[in-house]
Amino acid sequence: MSKQENCDVLVVGAGPAGLTAGIYSSWLGLKTIVLESGIVGGRAWLAPKIENFPGFEQGIKGSDLVEKMSKQASRFNADIKINEEVIGLDLHDEVKKVISRRQNYETSALIIATGTQRRKLSVAGEADFLGRGVSYCAVCDGPFFRGSDVAIIGNGEEAAIDALFLADIARKVAVVTQEKEVDIEGTLLDRLQKKPNVEIIKGKVTEIVGQQVVGAVKIVEHESQQEALKEVKGVFISLGGVPMTAVVRNAGITTDRAGCLTVDRQQRTNVEGVFAAGDCTCGGMQVVTAAGEGAMAAMRASAYARKKL
Ligand SMILES: Cc1cc2nc3c(=O)[nH]c(=O)nc-3n(C[C@H](O)[C@H](O)[C@H](O)COP(=O)(O)OP(=O)(O)OC[C@H]3O[C@@H](n4cnc5c(N)ncnc54)[C@H](O)[C@@H]3O)c2cc1C
Repeated sequence: MSKQENCDVLVVGAGPAGLTAGIYSSWLGLKTIVLESGIVGGRAWLAPKIENFPGFEQGIKGSDLVEKMSKQASRFNADIKINEEVIGLDLHDEVKKVISRRQNYETSALIIATGTQRRKLSVAGEADFLGRGVSYCAVCDGPFFRGSDVAIIGNGEEAAIDALFLADIARKVAVVTQEKEVDIEGTLLDRLQKKPNVEIIKGKVTEIVGQQVVGAVKIVEHESQQEALKEVKGVFISLGGVPMTAVVRNAGITTDRAGCLTVDRQQRTNVEGVFAAGDCTCGGMQVVTAAGEGAMAAMRASAYARKKL
């Protein structure tokens, strides 16, 4: 791995936070590289419809929104590289070294925008039936369950969005809350309750069962404490995310007990010249807040990098 590239600002992650950071620092005239291990657009790419991002009064498909962000960053010459998983950081010197699976990079300022990874349900059957009925992505795998009965596990906004999406595809959708209460507010809850084929079950899934593929979930209802078997072909786990921060913790960047990167109001981490933005800081966990933090991080990172030029 001898190849090496240099830049002024390097961004890890091309979700809404990383893409916005890329737009800002390249627009400010800094040589910017954005490294992405998965899909350009991050988790927002999966959102069937984003109704709360300013400027799109009719809402916009997540993949369309992030494609616009990506094109905007490229227009200012940000270099967005895919299949570039960052596996190591060396932040001991003024010039920061970033190691991906393919090559090394050196940068004056670094922005971490690595988002979150799916929270596991941690019950028997979850790992065994992964890809055989168990999924963490309703938008990706939902169409395989057309006309079938499915369960969504989760009590938050993400579970509600997934349930609304699947209600138009599946025969019946059971939303199993896991927690005692539903944590879905406003119009989202109204829309969910109006769907005739959606049932909200206040209970806890204790096991996913089946033969070759998923056949049912075992649910213990919170109020009665009775266990029941609910026959479903698909189980969608929508429990939100945990920050993807293993690489940065190893490099000495401070996180809190939940693994969220600790930042100040200017998105600075504890390491000089290293900034963080978006869901990995556990801010608003929304596209608009990720974009806002990305913009702030890039403005500060650009000012920092300029001093080093
Ligand atoms: C189904 C669904 C619906 C949603 N609906 C809405 C909505 O309506 N409104 C709203 O505001 N929000 C919504 N969200 C939430 C929103 O998508 C997130 O808050 C937002 O994407 C966070 O942006 P981010 O850039 O911080 O992180 P992410 O979007 O998670 O992007 C992080 C990126 O970093 C990459 N990465 C991670 N580690 C590395 C590494 N080591 N090297 C290189 N790259 C790495 C990841 O592959 C990923 O692409 C929804 C999410 C989902 C899943």
